Amino acid sequence: MSIETAFTVRDAVTSIIDGEPVKRSRRGTDFPFINPASEEPCGVLREADAQEVDAAVRSARKAFETGPWPRMGADERKAIFRSMHQALHRHREELEFLDCLNTGVPISQVRAMHVARAAYNFEFFGEVLSQDSGEAYTQNPSFLTYATREPVGVGAMMAPWNAPIPLASMRVATCIAFGNTCVLKPSEYTPHSMQRMVEIFHEAGLPPGVVNLVNGRGPVTGTALVTHPEVDMVGFTGGSETGKIIMSEAGKSLKPVLLELGGKSANIIHESANMERALDGALLGIFSSNGQQCLAGSRILVQRSIAQEFIERFVERARKLRIGDPLNADTEIGPLCYQSHMERVLSYARLARGEGAKLLFGGGRPAGFERGWFVEPTAVLAQDNSARVCQEEIFGPFATFLEFRDLDEALRVANDSQFGLVAYLWSQDLNVTMRAARELRAGTIWVNTPMFRELRAPFGGYKQSGIGRDGARGSLEFFTEPKTVSIPLTDFPMTKMGS
Ligand code: NAD
Repeated sequence: MSIETAFTVRDAVTSIIDGEPVKRSRRGTDFPFINPASEEPCGVLREADAQEVDAAVRSARKAFETGPWPRMGADERKAIFRSMHQALHRHREELEFLDCLNTGVPISQVRAMHVARAAYNFEFFGEVLSQDSGEAYTQNPSFLTYATREPVGVGAMMAPWNAPIPLASMRVATCIAFGNTCVLKPSEYTPHSMQRMVEIFHEAGLPPGVVNLVNGRGPVTGTALVTHPEVDMVGFTGGSETGKIIMSEAGKSLKPVLLELGGKSANIIHESANMERALDGALLGIFSSNGQQCLAGSRILVQRSIAQEFIERFVERARKLRIGDPLNADTEIGPLCYQSHMERVLSYARLARGEGAKLLFGGGRPAGFERGWFVEPTAVLAQDNSARVCQEEIFGPFATFLEFRDLDEALRVANDSQFGLVAYLWSQDLNVTMRAARELRAGTIWVNTPMFRELRAPFGGYKQSGIGRDGARGSLEFFTEPKTVSIPLTDFPMTKMGS
């Protein structure tokens, strides 16, 4: 049986509220959504309007105020996380198929990290929640003061389309681990795997109301969720411009926000690099997931002394990338997620030429692909870091090269960006490495490796790449409220007012 026929693709994707799919007479809008590889319709999204969002938030509020989740012992909650971890593994192939179908990311790359990573999110945060403990202050002998961390309440959790299962599961796991409940709003472009994922959470024993799902466009469903008065905090993974809108909406009622946003990350190839490994890393950094990654190494800064050889070898390898059906196990580059995104990425090839950049290869739609939103792997050599192709997140298989003279220049150019999510450095020289690691202004620095995610460590952005950090401590701090309790140990003399 082929992977296409092995799993059912739902005709309609609906909200899940209180553990049940929403069945109701229609009020909101229905959208057909499209298979990016074939341009064929592959289902209908039932958009949740403000009333449906309200029902989802009320369910989460009820589960928070009176349900078992915030009240259960850490071991019990951890056991349910363990069961969610196992259930995700059991349904792994189906979820991988659905993520591939909606996003166009090649199936081999989806298999490498999407569902395994999501399952690990629950395994990992199950450990974190069970290790959390309070603090006691005994320095004042007359008092015992202790501090506990308590759940904040109801979270609005928003996710993007580029890696639906790993990113949405991260938002959910970090929020509910500490006893919060939530409403998840994934991207309107990738709802299939999201609906199955939330169903699977309930099959695994998650109590109803702890995770509710609403689908729809950002300005409709997303806005109704962020502005809902019963939402206590917002966790958002998505673009920086949307992050600004969400933060200003949330700010009207002082809701705390965790923002994991976009990037234009520098990938510095120093002359002391192991060239073969740097080449492998640079190709993975910009072409895996079709270049649709917040942490893509999309600005490749290469030292002038090795630039010609490095760029020639990069282009030679990039020409051989296998473009094709994302469900084919050999495919390395699939279609982009939706049509206007493809058009936007293509527009940067035209822009680059207008800005005086040299087109090294690609820049158009690949020959032989009459259907599907495919873009050729593309690389340009820019003249100056102020060019828009160096400053704006393109979010496609589009590498922008810049040459640098020495490390001073490389670090200055790398830091000359509104973003600061990650930075890559390829060097075998310890002094170069240590200096770059200290001076690069980004939340994560990857030295001689592409994309290594250590969940224990903080992950998040400097500058317009985000606010706050995911990770064991960062998530605990955002998703809990510290509470201090002071109790006198003796009946101490009190001032008697009015006596
Ligand atoms: P997006 O900002 O368009 O959408 C993200 C989510 O926000 C979606 O669910 C969308 O429906 C919703 N949304 C959009 N407008 C909204 C509004 N006005 N009010 C409320 N909600 C709204 O991002 P995208 O195109 O889905 O994803 C790509 C972006 O996400 C890129 O910029 C990428 O760098 C970023 N990203 C960041 C990380 C990270 O961890 N830092 C990870 C993945 C993706």
